[in-house]
Amino acid sequence: IFERVKSKLKAKLGSEVYSSWFGRLKLDETSKSIVRLSVPTAFLRSWINNHYSDMIAGLWREEDEQVLKVEIVFRSASRAVRPVCDAEATPRETRALARDKPVFPVGNTVQDKKAPAHFADRSQNSVFGSPLDPRYTFDTFVDGTPNRVALAAARTIADAGASAVRFNPLFIHASVGLGKTHLLQAIAAEALKRPERARVVYLTAEYFMWRFATAIRDNNALSFKEQLRDIDLLIIDDMQFLQGKSIQHEFCHLINTLLDSAKQVVVAADRPPSELESLDPRVRSRLQGGVALEMISPDYAMRLEILKRRLVAAQAEDHSLDISPEILDHVAQSVTGSGRELEGAFNQLLFRQTFEPNLSVDRVDELLSHLMRGGEAKRIRIEEIQRIVARHYNVSKQDLLSNRRTRTIVKPRQIAMYLAKMLTPRSLPEIGRRFGGRDHTTVLHAVRKIEDIVGKDQKLSQELELLKRLINDQA
Ligand code: ADP
Ligand code: MG
Repeated sequence: IFERVKSKLKAKLGSEVYSSWFGRLKLDETSKSIVRLSVPTAFLRSWINNHYSDMIAGLWREEDEQVLKVEIVFRSASRAVRPVCDAEATPRETRALARDKPVFPVGNTVQDKKAPAHFADRSQNSVFGSPLDPRYTFDTFVDGTPNRVALAAARTIADAGASAVRFNPLFIHASVGLGKTHLLQAIAAEALKRPERARVVYLTAEYFMWRFATAIRDNNALSFKEQLRDIDLLIIDDMQFLQGKSIQHEFCHLINTLLDSAKQVVVAADRPPSELESLDPRVRSRLQGGVALEMISPDYAMRLEILKRRLVAAQAEDHSLDISPEILDHVAQSVTGSGRELEGAFNQLLFRQTFEPNLSVDRVDELLSHLMRGGEAKRIRIEEIQRIVARHYNVSKQDLLSNRRTRTIVKPRQIAMYLAKMLTPRSLPEIGRRFGGRDHTTVLHAVRKIEDIVGKDQKLSQELELLKRLINDQA
């Protein structure tokens, strides 16, 4: 099978790309459902994992349906481990990078669609950045005890002139949905308003990787690096996803340069710097040298305020919308998770209202049970979600986990990923792994996509509610 998969890969990618990435791929071991392949460098491992794992897993499943997962590991052999921050891609890898077509989604979030091209507008040499969501500003960010310090630090940085570097680097960490991205983008949006701070770059770690890989491919890594070193404020989101030795090596230089010339750096991740294990130790220690602040879950007062502001914003677009104060208060009391869950609850209620006016508190409990305190305790399993969704749409579970792109399979697959995100505490990468080794950006895309449609499509919304009920009943 390994040989067949390899030759299919070769046919797909062309022998040049194939041999640079997969020439040294070895079969380590297979069990019934897991295949382990190894490569000789950590760089190759993370590159293949990020770019080709879906493809390989898909090809493998064409040969053997039982295989759920294909793992790529680093075979350390007896070879000495290369020193860390200097462990650049080997010349061979660098050449391969230059040939390879990055298969990263362009702009790594669905925010792309609506985002204004702030950076391109502001900067002479069209610097770049991940798109900013216009809703994420300080005005819309609710202040409360759990995030007061982080907010104050963020404001100080946004307001400071180019030379007044206060907390450097500022490191913000919190688990998903607690407002990191919102706060970081608020800093960027605010700082961009100031002429003396026009060179502001907000990048997700993944977008950074993608840009870097593209620049290498197009032979302008040098100018890319120069552009980056010539900015006043660098904001990096989701740092936990920064992978790959050569990219970390570049990042290491970049942040050293910026910090040494007293340029502000702000970084966010889902864990504190000390726990970013996959990160180059030198980058980590640089990050630890600044100020690290944690954001924690919003308290009741904040939750209520967030809901109220959402309502005002929704009403600005459609006057007929309303949710009673009693219900808002009830939701603030009972949906105690992250800002994202609150947002989900709010959107569902708003949507419900349009064809079921005068919702009672009991009905709200019913509708939102999966987001309320008890919801998680029931421990819903991803396998169960897959099983129920597959059955509902009359597809096989294998199809759901496969790489097939038929519409009839893509939609149930996206719904299942969305439900896995909404109904379980699993992270995006974890969900990706459980869906046949997909990348977390694929999961994120699915979640955003369904979220997008659900507000507009009554039929889908009803289907989702039915599915949630089926899943909850099983748990
Ligand atoms: P993270 O990046 O930490 O995963 P996000 O910034 O994406 O979280 O926040 C998730 C959602 O919750 C967003 O819609 C965000 O606007 C909202 N949110 C989180 N905290 C706040 C807050 N303090 N005020 C207003 N909205 C918030
Ligand atoms: Mg975020």
